[in-house]
Amino acid sequence: MDPLRHVKPAVRDLAAYSVALPKAPVKINQNENPWDLPEAVKRRVVEKALTRSWSRYPDLDSRELLEALARHSGWRADGILAGNGSNEAIEALLLVTVGPGTKVVIPEPTFTLYALLTTILGGESVRVPMLSRGAPIASGLSFRGAAVVSRDEESAVASADPSGPGRRRSLRMTFAYDVDALLAARRAWGAPVTIVCSPNNPTGTSLDLYDVERLCGDGDGLVVIDEAYHEFSARTVVPLLERYPNLIVLRTFSKAMALAGLRVGYLLASPELVREIDKARLPYNLNFFSQAAALAALEEKDALAVSVHRLVAERERLLARLADVPGVSAYSSDTNFFLVECLSADPKAVFSSMLRRGVLVRDVTSYPRLERCLRVTVGTPEENDAFLHALGTALTEAGMDLTTGRA
Ligand code: PMP
Repeated sequence: MDPLRHVKPAVRDLAAYSVALPKAPVKINQNENPWDLPEAVKRRVVEKALTRSWSRYPDLDSRELLEALARHSGWRADGILAGNGSNEAIEALLLVTVGPGTKVVIPEPTFTLYALLTTILGGESVRVPMLSRGAPIASGLSFRGAAVVSRDEESAVASADPSGPGRRRSLRMTFAYDVDALLAARRAWGAPVTIVCSPNNPTGTSLDLYDVERLCGDGDGLVVIDEAYHEFSARTVVPLLERYPNLIVLRTFSKAMALAGLRVGYLLASPELVREIDKARLPYNLNFFSQAAALAALEEKDALAVSVHRLVAERERLLARLADVPGVSAYSSDTNFFLVECLSADPKAVFSSMLRRGVLVRDVTSYPRLERCLRVTVGTPEENDAFLHALGTALTEAGMDLTTGRA
């Protein structure tokens, strides 16, 4: 007897979504907000929960929350769907659009759930590699500036420089979306869905508004922009919803809004599209506790914005410090995390060594193109100092001479 033979072959072949979660005092591996909501706010939510019957179903459509989200986002309430985490909103969207053979265009590397769900539903993800570049930040040039060097050029510069690996100290890496390739893939496959995470997990890359418009204006294929980290980039594509009925935006309360434990996310699109996607949302998907907590978090949005500013300042402090650490190269980021590339040390050894010192980052070496990378979430200033210290020790342990950057 083999009951497993009834599971779709494409599913049997898949690796499950998983995150290694060893316990560590400095937990900077899941892009969460390190600062919890104030206890007074949590108490308000608990008090509210105590006044209503737990034996009765919650509001079917999270109506009060949708109204508050409309005020928060500037988009109409009948164009919003609330989910049990934005994961559920992504799932509902793909359930109503993807069937056997459906092509879904997805940049690479990105959040793995898009391709996982596409495969489970019988669709095929069309992967479009991102571009990666090194920009000499010492001279103040950004990727959008004129003098961008490719990685190959950068290596040539580094090896030709008599000061050797120390030259790398002035380089910060960056990824960029290959918008022409995304457009070409959409056209070539007639793809009904394109999903772009902006800013992107795990590279920290944003897609310019202009490029979002290029995608939306090219046929009627759906363009899904996952804005899970938009608060850290101070950018949003929501104003474009008015103009592009094929645009869908995803957002979450799990990052800047400090509510990962209660699972709230939402999707914004035209009311007509939302009505269709809503058919795949499970009834009563959002429990009343999470609905109340999301409403409370929205009332705290000014305080949460302060925590976002502090995290962005900490991110820049960390990236500046890492520019002086030989043997690693950090990537610019518009989010509350960034990639650190281990130039010669084994990244898995660096990961384990930091973990032994109580610092847990995310090992992303299994992602395409990120074979030498670790992803680091920006934490409290104390956590960030602990990370810098653990990284320095881990690199020394890996045989790196921190004065020369040579192993
Ligand atoms: N999108 C992206 C890009 C993410 O990184 C994550 C969480 N890691 C999610 C969506 C899912 O968030 P949620 O907790 O709302 O399900």
